[in-house]
Amino acid sequence: MAYVITQNCCKDASCVPACPVDCIRPLAGAVGEPGAQMLFIDPETCIDCGACADECPVGAVYSEYDLPPELERFRDINAAYFQRHPLEATVPETVSRAPARAELRVAVVGAGPAACYAAAELLGIPGVEVDLFERLPTPFGLIRAGVAPDHQRTKSIVKIFDRAFSDSRFGCHLHVEAGRDITHAELLAHHHAVIYAVGASDSRDLGIAGEELPGNYAAADFVGWYNGHPDHADRSFELSGSRAVIIGNGNVALDVARMLLLDAPALGRTDIAEHAADALADSGIGEVVILGRRGPREGAFSAGEFHALGHLPGIDVVIEGGDLTAHPDDDVETTIKLELAREYADRGTTPGNRRIVFRFNSSPVELTGGERVTGVRVLSTVPGENATELLDTALVLRSIGFRGRALAGLPFDDAAGIIPNERGRVVDSDGRTLPGTYVTGWIKRGPRGVIGTNRTCAAETVAQLLADYAAGTLHGDVGDRAAVRELLAGRGITPVDWPGWRAIDDAERARGASAARPRVKFVTIPELLAGSRG
Ligand code: NAP
Repeated sequence: MAYVITQNCCKDASCVPACPVDCIRPLAGAVGEPGAQMLFIDPETCIDCGACADECPVGAVYSEYDLPPELERFRDINAAYFQRHPLEATVPETVSRAPARAELRVAVVGAGPAACYAAAELLGIPGVEVDLFERLPTPFGLIRAGVAPDHQRTKSIVKIFDRAFSDSRFGCHLHVEAGRDITHAELLAHHHAVIYAVGASDSRDLGIAGEELPGNYAAADFVGWYNGHPDHADRSFELSGSRAVIIGNGNVALDVARMLLLDAPALGRTDIAEHAADALADSGIGEVVILGRRGPREGAFSAGEFHALGHLPGIDVVIEGGDLTAHPDDDVETTIKLELAREYADRGTTPGNRRIVFRFNSSPVELTGGERVTGVRVLSTVPGENATELLDTALVLRSIGFRGRALAGLPFDDAAGIIPNERGRVVDSDGRTLPGTYVTGWIKRGPRGVIGTNRTCAAETVAQLLADYAAGTLHGDVGDRAAVRELLAGRGITPVDWPGWRAIDDAERARGASAARPRVKFVTIPELLAGSRG
């Protein structure tokens, strides 16, 4: 018997050191390295101890005998990885930690997964103090406001930060915006170093005619809306048409497609914002077309998420266009994706079902319409073909990736949409290091990777910071936490602290319990602040 890693693997690799026989792969490579979007267990080597399952923060590891039917295929998927990449022993890594000294204070800006992993990594070192600053009154960034509501197991990853964030060395300043409420210079005056983990919050544009028309939205706005992000809670989307078109076929596109098509009882079991559940209950959308400008081999979705679509009740997956033949040199995930695509193509559709249509080799060239969007004109990207077609739709969601936003006082690489850095150390346009200033997460490496990817990324940044600390290049005397609070209080700012967030969390869960839901979110800043005061 063996253990099996399944769909919602967060890839933070907590399971890897727990395995006594070292049979979980791939191991973390260079940050941003393309490749497998999940981890796998070698069934031949696994000794069935279950240590990995105990350690997994998102419940993605099952004994092969306990696999739910919709996840059974992952037994073969895990095995297939090792047929292609036979297990090789690794040399254990020697981790060097900073000496335990009491005078290292670090500010972390942001409270998403990248920030949380960086803070937890630092708090694992005795004597280090961390102050976290976040614009919203809530922590966890994309875990709360990005991960789709039907992926509750993924959201449960937050519990791994509980212990670190309950430590008195952790200071939490929610509802404080760096750059507005406290400047970079002030952060540096009160901390030996600042790590920016502010993500990539701007959506990319298509640059095609008609993009300004109402009815065309960034998928991120829709995601923020259904997840109850205060910036997006009062938006509305055109849901009365029968078809929505999503441009781009990454995992965000798949999340959005599911949320558009899941029925009211399925949505009712999630923590979707109430306004979104109500609007989607009245939606007329029965078909979501996901446009990929390249072929199925280059689909940006992960194998696990693609596989999960095939188990949604009442929803068919339709494949249009593209070569579905696998090549011997395709990697394991591409081979699985093509295999799944062939199965969907053979399966056919059921009358009355809703549909997710993967349309490959189709590039959007124009959004049509007068007052509002009425269609998307697409051009075939198959070499030699030059055909265009008009897809009727009143709702276009562009899911084509993100960009970071420039921060006052820090350099910015406009072309890449990131803060320029060397392995996390911020550098200016001449390549000179900005003392005490670091980045981690999407603002460091661009918008790629799943939640757990941020663990390795944060470890790399923290390692640079500790090396600078050991080399004595961080500046000396800094103010303490009381001085930070005093500074903010002098500006009339009362941050929400960790107990304040716990009060919000408890209140949302209590609201959820009475509705048989994981939580019912507060979606406005005043509601959240009232919740934080209990
Ligand atoms: P993504 O994976 O980078 O996908 C972007 C998509 O947009 C690609 O299909 C890309 O096509 C397409 N695209 C880009 N520019 C385009 C253009 N001008 N016209 C047409 N198509 C265009 O981005 P994402 O979906 O936003 O995801 C970001 C990261 O978050 C990914 O690493 C993803 O795996 C992760 N994530 C994971 C989960 C999960 O694990 N459940 C959920 C959400 C997000 P090309 O490939 O041709 O450029």
